[in-house]
Amino acid sequence: MIDIQHLNKWYGQNEVLKDVSLSVDKGEVVTIIGSSGSGKSTLLRCINLLEQPTKGAIIFNGQDILASNYNLPEYRTHLGMVFQQFNLFDNHDVLSNCVVGQVKVLKRSPAEAERIAVENLQKVGMGDFCHAKPKQLSGGQKQRVAIARALSMNPDCLLFDEPTSALDPEMVGEVLKIMRELAETGLTMVVVTHEMGFARDVSDRVIFMDKGVIAESGTPEHIFNHPTEERTKQFLERVL
Ligand code: ATP
Ligand code: MG
Repeated sequence: MIDIQHLNKWYGQNEVLKDVSLSVDKGEVVTIIGSSGSGKSTLLRCINLLEQPTKGAIIFNGQDILASNYNLPEYRTHLGMVFQQFNLFDNHDVLSNCVVGQVKVLKRSPAEAERIAVENLQKVGMGDFCHAKPKQLSGGQKQRVAIARALSMNPDCLLFDEPTSALDPEMVGEVLKIMRELAETGLTMVVVTHEMGFARDVSDRVIFMDKGVIAESGTPEHIFNHPTEERTKQFLERVL
């Protein structure tokens, strides 16, 4: 579905992604692990073009989206993103958070958008909070709303950047549970995470990034039980 080829990203003199190639198939759950500063967020942000890659190609459903004639707004509607800091619209209630994008970007009618929003809010256990404002919610509840909002856009693939890192420990589980359920429905997901249990149990493939390169990738069994690269072993020793 998404084929990333030889991606490079420079910030000034700093090369933060070095020849990164990665493909994500429909229905796959790919997790990205690695130390702070290794380029995980930059890679995700390049995938949905929140950042412009310096070099390389991103082939989506057979088309190079970095080619100048590609319709970017259209591309972005295929990818959803869930952020560490939720990024909800604080002045909108929960339902409206899940409706505005559908109406503005997908041109759905408000009634249709509301129906879809409520369905997704129910899916994440937030159906009773439609008229709450984000500031009345716990971190875990906010993140579940953010997931419902992303789902309401019917993305082909959902990108998560450390969705549980800003949460109090007791709320991590409720968000991971929703993510596990989504994975089971066959949703294509790319997840940057520090939750090694999630990476081990839920991913089809684990990518270990180190200093801007994909140092090793493979099945959870390979990465967690039989890593071959010294730096993967050292990283896992630190975090497990
Ligand atoms: P973390 O686990 O802390 O979130 P990460 O793996 O997501 O780390 P990135 O945020 O992708 O790492 O950062 C990779 C490198 O790029 C770091 O050295 C960072 O300082 C640098 N960097 C990231 N964003 C920018 C930016 N907007 N301008 C300049 N440098 C940046
Ligand atoms: Mg990051």
